[in-house]
Amino acid sequence: MDSKDTSKKTSRRQVLGGLSVGFVAAQAVPVFAQQPSTSANPPGTPSQDTTTPAVPNQSVQQNPVDQYPSPPFQRQPQEPPGLAREMTPRPDHGETSYQGTGRLMGRKALVTGGDSGIGRAAAIAFAREGADVAINYLPVEEPDAREVVELIQAAGRKAVAIPGDIRDENFCNQLVASAVNELGGLDILVNNAAKQQSVDSILDLTTEQFDSTFKTNVYAMFWITKAALPYLSPGASIINTSSVQAYDPSENLLDYAQTKSAQVAFTKSLAKQLAKQGIRVNAIAPGPYWTPLQVTGGQPQSVVEQFGSDSPMGRPGQPAELAPIYVLLASQESSYATGQVYGAAGGSGNP
Ligand code: NAD
Ligand code: MG
Repeated sequence: MDSKDTSKKTSRRQVLGGLSVGFVAAQAVPVFAQQPSTSANPPGTPSQDTTTPAVPNQSVQQNPVDQYPSPPFQRQPQEPPGLAREMTPRPDHGETSYQGTGRLMGRKALVTGGDSGIGRAAAIAFAREGADVAINYLPVEEPDAREVVELIQAAGRKAVAIPGDIRDENFCNQLVASAVNELGGLDILVNNAAKQQSVDSILDLTTEQFDSTFKTNVYAMFWITKAALPYLSPGASIINTSSVQAYDPSENLLDYAQTKSAQVAFTKSLAKQLAKQGIRVNAIAPGPYWTPLQVTGGQPQSVVEQFGSDSPMGRPGQPAELAPIYVLLASQESSYATGQVYGAAGGSGNP
């Protein structure tokens, strides 16, 4: 289904008025309780049968190769940015599995691209660790964002939803101002939103796409970080989602791979700038993860069918498998980690 069609079913006014902006979530559920979504078709752990998802128990030792679905997957084109709720199998963002232990109690976090995929997994984990969380996403992603807002609320934390296009510098400034205003400060910034569109030849890569990819992945990270810095105090953490593409670029991701390298350099440079202020800056470099980014033109559908098969693990990662790394980098436990890039690529790639 076309994601734009889906989004029209829920107007922004309905969502903003009814759910998401600037509210304090009801404290009915303890922070540590793991509450499955209450939606009719809960976002759960993926399974080829999406109606009865099996939930891997993260606390039980098991074979990670078999823990989640492996290819082949069905072709499932969506218009970008797409919706996680339309994917088969549905990605696991930790909705029913992530267990917090209070590691981010009272912190205030902003996560771009927090509606789906890796950003959603980070947002859920942050909330279950005790943080209030603001998420940014594109307006057409409101159906995914609503699910995340409900999950943050269910963890007993404040959720703030701020839709808008980060390719615009003015919006980036407004985004940070709104997040700070609604959360009452900012301690954790996750620059995670990105654009990825596969193009086989440089001859077919348009200036428009090149510009849009750099605006989303590089300029927005610069604008949002610059706007956020005045509000960050010692102990704050900035986390940028880079990629294995920074180190091992694919031939069909010429523009995207460059932005991911730029993010690594940005992370390492800024970490040096901000170390004396006690603000840490790190990046995560995922390998293949099962998210909307990939099925909405990030890869050709022929690659989607076999997605993750060339990883030594033989399957793609699920966003939930990255969440603990975001939590670690956000928390005081990683107090000596700055300017680092954390790989999580299922056995291949750098760093
Ligand atoms: P995703 O589609 O779930 O998340 C990307 C998000 O970017 C979208 O949800 C959307 O909200 C946001 N976005 C895109 N353009 C935007 C714009 N103009 N304005 C505002 N928001 C915009 O996919 P994901 O895979 O979870 O991506 C998250 C991050 O992970 C990205 O930085 C991506 O490069 C990185 N990554 C993903 C993989 C993978 O295999 N999925 C691998 C390496 C790195
Ligand atoms: Mg999304």
